[in-house]
Amino acid sequence: MANRKRILITGAAGFLGSHLCDRFIKEDYHVIAMDNLITGDLRNIEHLFKLENFEFYNHDVSKFVHVSGELDYILHFASPASPIDYLKIPIQTLKVGSLGTHNLLGLALAKGARMLIASTSEIYGDPTVNPQPEEYWGNVNTVGPRGVYDEAKRFQESITMAYHTFHGLETRIVRIFNTYGPRMRLNDGRVLPAFIGQALRGEPLTMFGDGSQTRAFCYVDDLIEGIYRLLHSDYSQPMNIGNPDEITIKEFGDEIIKLTGTDQKMISLPLPTDDPKQRRPDITKAKAILGWEPKVGRAEGLKITYEYFKSLPEKEILHKDF
Ligand code: NAD
Ligand code: UDP
Repeated sequence: MANRKRILITGAAGFLGSHLCDRFIKEDYHVIAMDNLITGDLRNIEHLFKLENFEFYNHDVSKFVHVSGELDYILHFASPASPIDYLKIPIQTLKVGSLGTHNLLGLALAKGARMLIASTSEIYGDPTVNPQPEEYWGNVNTVGPRGVYDEAKRFQESITMAYHTFHGLETRIVRIFNTYGPRMRLNDGRVLPAFIGQALRGEPLTMFGDGSQTRAFCYVDDLIEGIYRLLHSDYSQPMNIGNPDEITIKEFGDEIIKLTGTDQKMISLPLPTDDPKQRRPDITKAKAILGWEPKVGRAEGLKITYEYFKSLPEKEILHKDF
């Protein structure tokens, strides 16, 4: 169809990017997917390759980005996202959040496209306020190990807002809180794949610290719905999207032990430097402005995700090269 809306999705072969591709294909958009596969996997989107309204470009968006034809929207999701990944590739992480964002904002301006960036709850650092409203300015250690991710994302928000105010570009900023679901990498080091992978391999679950730190986990379908609504809203200030159901990591480990039926227990390993002690989104704005709130509870979401991991080839479950 000639009059399809055209959307560029960066980080398309990753966990969230691939779910976004599915959603926009379902809405009958023409999807231009871009990824350099540094942490992504083409298998996440290979089912879309046969479609006439889907294209894929293997490209590093920290280098100049060219796309032929018109563009209505850009979703910038390219970036390593798990602490293990961004500690392994810190410079690329800083570059994709800064140079990559700059390149894509330039492209958005040239094409007259609306651009949405994937920011994160990490911009709040180790928060002293709980839950975190969008007005909270955060508590980030710029030179700590997580600074490469947090500061890249903070810069990303600033340059996006500058393009909005200075150039009048249509921009949207979503601050994503811990999200989980099928297509996460079993070995990406995040707590959910780590615990489920360990349970599947019959290993103890590695709880960092005493497990009293908290997180609030959002199922991927809920997040995608929130992003879809934000993109189509007229709200250009940052917006939290996440599930406020907060839980300690120790309680979370107990839930995974129960879900998987493993006979293993949790062992305590040192808490990583600057690991946030508490995190929970204040979603008052998303509720009021987008009429959005999460629908999938943890019990349901975890079950779906566990079934996904269980269905992976055995050699992938056993492979745990971080
Ligand atoms: P992911 O690692 O699964 O996906 C990221 C994708 O970006 C990968 O496919 C990777 O290959 C690609 N990529 C990285 N650098 C690139 C570059 N320079 N050029 C082109 N492609 C590049 O991670 P995810 O969980 O899907 O996260 C996606 C986005 O959402 C990230 O921007 C992340 O910061 C943000 N986010 C995710 C969460 C979460 O809970 N999953 C939370 C907050 C923010
Ligand atoms: N965590 C853990 N064991 C692991 C991996 C992570 O206890 O094997 C903890 C981690 O210290 C943090 C929480 O789980 O407090 C969430 O970590 P994750 O890497 O998933 O995401 P974060 O929210 O820290 O970016």
